Amino acid sequence: MPTSDLIVIGGGIVGLATAYKFQLRFPGSSVILLEKEPDLASHQTGRNSGVLHSGIYYKPGSLKAKNCREGKQAMEAFCRNEGVPYDICGKVIVALSDEELPRLQGIYERGQANGVRCEVIERGRLLELEPHVAGIRALHVPETGIVNYSMVCERLAARIKEAGGEIKLGTCARRFRSDGPRTIVETLSGDFAARQVVNCAGLYSDHVAALTGEKPPAKIIPFRGEYFELKLEAEHLVRNLIYPVPDPAFPFLGVHFTRMIAGGVECGPNAVLAFAREGYFKTTINPSELAESLTYPGFLRLAAKYWRMGAGEMWRSVSKGAFVRALSRLVPEIDASQLTPAPAGVRAQALLPDGSLVDDFLIETHGNVVNVLNAPSPAATSALTIGDSVVERLAAGRG
Ligand SMILES: Cc1cc2nc3c(=O)[nH]c(=O)nc-3n(C[C@H](O)[C@H](O)[C@H](O)COP(=O)(O)OP(=O)(O)OC[C@H]3O[C@@H](n4cnc5c(N)ncnc54)[C@H](O)[C@@H]3O)c2cc1C
Repeated sequence: MPTSDLIVIGGGIVGLATAYKFQLRFPGSSVILLEKEPDLASHQTGRNSGVLHSGIYYKPGSLKAKNCREGKQAMEAFCRNEGVPYDICGKVIVALSDEELPRLQGIYERGQANGVRCEVIERGRLLELEPHVAGIRALHVPETGIVNYSMVCERLAARIKEAGGEIKLGTCARRFRSDGPRTIVETLSGDFAARQVVNCAGLYSDHVAALTGEKPPAKIIPFRGEYFELKLEAEHLVRNLIYPVPDPAFPFLGVHFTRMIAGGVECGPNAVLAFAREGYFKTTINPSELAESLTYPGFLRLAAKYWRMGAGEMWRSVSKGAFVRALSRLVPEIDASQLTPAPAGVRAQALLPDGSLVDDFLIETHGNVVNVLNAPSPAATSALTIGDSVVERLAAGRG
């Protein structure tokens, strides 16, 4: 069995960026990427909102803050060089009441600490930017952008292949075993051997880590985000990106409006427990995966603490009226007849046994395996610098 230098598990944006960066760092090295689906970017990467995040929300000094700032620049440069269209269209974060103003100010201060260009604007300026929005004051973040991450993945895959790398689609890593200094990855299409392995399996990153012999500190709990899209006749209500002031404990909650690079405006998402890790529909149930979530102490603690918030998210999942009411707080002219259902996404959220969310990116090394154990938003924006961090670890492991 030929031995390659590196096997990457997972053909989402993090796995592809890692393989690409490894080849740049070690020209002539042999890399194989295994993806279980027939296509790349089939899960989180291909179902996300396509935002190039500015890095405004994240705790200064965190991996998210650092990787998002540097990663966004790297992603823009990659898109320019590769001819992938993107648009730095800006976004507004809108305070709807006096009560939200201190939190808006807090985000502004975080933005300043993170080096993000942003400005507090009053209602007059807000209406120039977004004529149909509610709100008494807002934060304008001109450097936020939009892109299609599936197109980024196509270009990454092309570069990996040009540099001699192999991408094996429809190839699921099922078991791992050691053979001296090599790791053997077993799949139904045969075994693959490598000196080093990186696990970028997204929604299954904890399972894959366990297969390699690591005991991951957190479990992935899948949260489905459901969306609507504005019908053509209502698209004029949103020019770019309109976000609410987030709850600091759950920055990913709060429905918002996102113009997409290929046209159209996405509205949402909510966040509800998915009954399967790849459960894109309310009716998709995987009994063993559901039981895994429901019996995990971390999930039970989270649910007990935040049941009221969870109930609100579930209510918005079953009631279009409730979803529309949440959207119309930001854009009052929106009504249900202007919205059509759009594809859902599932977030891989790493949760600790004590019920706390793993907030930052989490990457761990176990022998000659590097496990990317938590790569939620803004990991698409940050993928190229996450790739650099993983390659740093691999380089250290090569001695
Ligand atoms: C609804 C939603 C909206 C988001 N919006 C944004 C945004 O606007 N901007 C942003 O920066 N981020 C956003 N994110 C986050 C971003 O999409 C993810 O952080 C990023 O895509 C993670 O990439 P990944 O490669 O780690 O995971 P994935 O894209 O999920 O890829 C993992 C891959 O591993 C494969 N795999 C799993 N197990 C195996 C196995 N055993 N063998 C082989 N292959 C395997 C899977 O099939 C999958 O293709 C959003 C996420 C969601 C869900």
